[in-house]
Amino acid sequence: MKRIAFHTLGCKLNFAESSALAKRFEQAGCTIVPTEEAADLYVINTCTVTADAEKKCRQFIHRIHRRHPQAEIAVTGCFAELRGDEIRAMEGVTYVLGTADKTQLIAMVNRQAAARNDDPAAGFTPIHSAIGRTRSFFKVQDGCDNFCSYCAIPYARGRSRSAGIAQTVEAAGRIAAEGYKEVVFTGVNIGDFGRKNGERFADLLRALLRIDGIVRWRLSSIEPDLLDSEIIELVAAEPKLMPHFHIPLQAGSDAVLHAMRRRYDTAFFARKVEEIRRNLPHAFIAADVIAGFPSETAADFEDGYRFIESLPISALHVFSYSARPEAAAYRMANAYAPAEKEARSRRLHRLSDAKKAAFYERFSGQTAVVLWESERLGDEMLGYTENYLRVAAPYDAAKINTLESVRLDTSYLHPDKDRIMTVQTPSPCK
Ligand code: SF4
Repeated sequence: MKRIAFHTLGCKLNFAESSALAKRFEQAGCTIVPTEEAADLYVINTCTVTADAEKKCRQFIHRIHRRHPQAEIAVTGCFAELRGDEIRAMEGVTYVLGTADKTQLIAMVNRQAAARNDDPAAGFTPIHSAIGRTRSFFKVQDGCDNFCSYCAIPYARGRSRSAGIAQTVEAAGRIAAEGYKEVVFTGVNIGDFGRKNGERFADLLRALLRIDGIVRWRLSSIEPDLLDSEIIELVAAEPKLMPHFHIPLQAGSDAVLHAMRRRYDTAFFARKVEEIRRNLPHAFIAADVIAGFPSETAADFEDGYRFIESLPISALHVFSYSARPEAAAYRMANAYAPAEKEARSRRLHRLSDAKKAAFYERFSGQTAVVLWESERLGDEMLGYTENYLRVAAPYDAAKINTLESVRLDTSYLHPDKDRIMTVQTPSPCK
């Protein structure tokens, strides 16, 4: 009987994978404990999306070894995949497993041979996370074939792969059996689901909608060139598919998009957003943007800023460019002064705040259905509307994992939780 602690850095996909791995350890008779407690093994599931993410991984490994010098440390995930030799040389590290190998950890710990369940060559296993009692993150795809010039993900996670529709639906049935009402798709490039098996993401959505018990399916991030009219119309027609899109734009200038090796231009992206707005006027639409790509001149940034400002989107996810040694853009010279990157990031964050506030304001006074979650914020509980407005109401444990129709009031900016909408009356029309 071993005590195992998990610490996860990075994206929803990593959290889903940690959760699935923790479940397997539990099934093998181990006890999962918080990282603050003493454990026999600490599993650190790492991220390499930026240089800062790597720094946090290194710091966490040092901290755990300092506090628990007798414990074993397993480092898994993207950072382990790309910098395996560096991590192996770190004091206290016992196991280093990349993205494809992490499912071997249990076998390694038990000193047994293991099958590579998540190896791209051996196929792909859909998994889901078990964080909270309401929403589950469902990994339906992994890897990417795009090789955008700024991105190290294809090197860390390998080529795009997914299971077939039948196997994915079977895995989703298990999520429903565990009582989750909402499922969020995760993957590196979910729109690519099924391409190598002759299947399509839209057909997966249709098949999943037939599962009883899950009342909300959320798309999460999907590449604009893979978000086709069929998917948008399906979301508009199916009440179980939430009106919520997260589309990576990355830059609002065609010259920068070209240098990033993205597969669309700004006109294509604008048409995509218009199409969503035409079909789903109330949809939450978020776009990822990178501030400070090396070739982005001052003029490129200003062009891009005006373009993004003109888009009828609801929020931005702003990332500061981080040079990754594996990616093609690593060798590009910067077209701007170093301080400019942070200045651009701050302007984009302010633009996002303004767009989000305006989007929330549109729904003030309207009725919306909220799925209440177990997370507590002082005397209040939090939930999301169908179109991803975060809502707070007086805490009532009996409402967790239930849907409620409420009248929305006004929103405010919470210091830790971003924008939150209040309700006019706690439960006017249950
Ligand atoms: S940024 Fe480009 S290469 Fe990286 S995961 Fe996304 S689509 Fe793939």
